[in-house]
Amino acid sequence: MISGILASPGIVFGKALLFKEKKININVKKISKKNINIEIEKFFKARKKSKKQLKEIQNQAKKKFGKEKSSIFEGHILILEDEELEKEIISLIKKKMITSDHAVEKIIQEQISSLEKLKDEYLKNRAIDIRDIGNRLLKNILKIPIIDLNNIQKKVILITKDLTPSQTAQMNFKKILGFATDLGGKTSHTSIMARSLEIPAIVGMGNITEKIKNNDYIILNGIDNEIIINPSKQQIKEFKIIRKQYFEKQKKLISLKKVHAITLDGKKIKIGSNIGNYKDTIGSKKYGAECIGLYRTEFLFMGRNNLPSEEEQFQAYKKVAKKMHGKHIIIRTMDIGGDKNLSYMNFPPEENPFLGWRAIRVSINNIQILHDQLKAILRASAYGKFKIMFPMIISMEEIYFLKQELNKIKIKLKKNKIKFDKKIELGVMIETPSSAIISKHLAKEVDFFSIGTNDLTQYTLAVDRGNEIISNLYQPMSPSVLYLIKKVIKESHKAKKWTGICGELASNEKAISLLVGMGIDELSMSSISIPIIKNIIRKINFKKAKILAKKVLQQSTVKKIKKLLKKFNKENNLL
Ligand code: PEP
Ligand code: MG
Repeated sequence: MISGILASPGIVFGKALLFKEKKININVKKISKKNINIEIEKFFKARKKSKKQLKEIQNQAKKKFGKEKSSIFEGHILILEDEELEKEIISLIKKKMITSDHAVEKIIQEQISSLEKLKDEYLKNRAIDIRDIGNRLLKNILKIPIIDLNNIQKKVILITKDLTPSQTAQMNFKKILGFATDLGGKTSHTSIMARSLEIPAIVGMGNITEKIKNNDYIILNGIDNEIIINPSKQQIKEFKIIRKQYFEKQKKLISLKKVHAITLDGKKIKIGSNIGNYKDTIGSKKYGAECIGLYRTEFLFMGRNNLPSEEEQFQAYKKVAKKMHGKHIIIRTMDIGGDKNLSYMNFPPEENPFLGWRAIRVSINNIQILHDQLKAILRASAYGKFKIMFPMIISMEEIYFLKQELNKIKIKLKKNKIKFDKKIELGVMIETPSSAIISKHLAKEVDFFSIGTNDLTQYTLAVDRGNEIISNLYQPMSPSVLYLIKKVIKESHKAKKWTGICGELASNEKAISLLVGMGIDELSMSSISIPIIKNIIRKINFKKAKILAKKVLQQSTVKKIKKLLKKFNKENNLL
């Protein structure tokens, strides 16, 4: 039995698929004359195999994303079979008498280096494709198995060192029942995605990839945060009962989804869901969301090879609007960077990606991306109640600039007689200590705040949210973070504006009484958590919660805060 950090609840049983990429070790040696033809043959065989694999991926992509996107792989096959490339590789094997893998590696590297030197963005991006194709070719020459997470045939539980959000976005969850990783934290984006997809997951397990072998039968128990390897028949039987009970409890909770989150003494809190695409609105409806408190638009930009056009974005946002039937949708502009990379955007390597080129900084530096996105959102606002939100704000200068750019787009649309919501509201995410500290000024410029406690905790405490080694220090309920949250709520109310929370703290059952007592107006979360949170709020007395919040804010340690909350939650029968 091994435990880690519970990322997403549920219980699944099945065979483990150990996804461990083997390192490519190039055979750097001189070959004899008689082996030249053998090496050339190796190259041709590997190329044939690579082509077959790419064709298969192309077919899968066609089914999943349509013809246009699957044509990317046609391009990959063309590169793979490029005559020039073939000539250069063969000539190098012959002339220098080196292995086929060594020759492929050299030629591919040469091509990448010359492309990377170019100014042209399109050609620079080709370097990424060539690296991909080269790696496939090398693995096939060296007979290193290639596991394609998009193309898994049997149902499995995935065990791997780490998963990036963009890998997660592309996985086939009809086959991947759940996953466990060595690395990662509860608020890393991969964990957040697992909760939206309702895929049981445990992260930050340390060395699970060392302990589980391929095809081991395992139970991933995402209720009690444990994995059982090769369980006995008796254990399987017991866990099937536990899973049944879990499903029944979930069903009961879902049946309560229509209720409103109103405290015993009449204070109403709006409950929203966090989504990454229109498919997630199915969960919003199923679990009773009253709005979308956070639409993470960056997922539309991930798992692909180019930027989505304004039109494509417009269609995607409009689809969400239609699903929400007039309920508000807080749409956040692209939050790329940190742990969410775009392979086609050539992100420079950074020492501290979370402190670097991320979120609104990327949009401000790529004004066309910002303009296209704002245009798409404004056009979609003719079909639903959107509210625009900017991520990772640190200064008033940013807000002045962004408002000016938004205005420019509005003027353009008006001139072209394109319909949009003229009264569309504007908000900022409070994710940095700086934005919380200047919230008094920000409140004058925007209509609402949404506190991103995942990042606010990370930046206030200087604790990487995805690093399991220091996960004990990652405490959203520490006095400093709570102080900032309270300040933001207070400043917004003074300016007659409102504040929500869309970070993971919004669905922390133990913290709800405190957040309500602090005066929060909206809580937005993974849909699966909505029924439980609504029902906690319905048992709270707002007056008592306010007194609790006052007391909590006077405490000096997390321990004291948690103790007070535990006592209150128990006395009021909340959990
Ligand atoms: C947050 O930081 O709390 C937040 C909601 O944004 P994200 O998790 O996407 O960084
Ligand atoms: Mg954030």
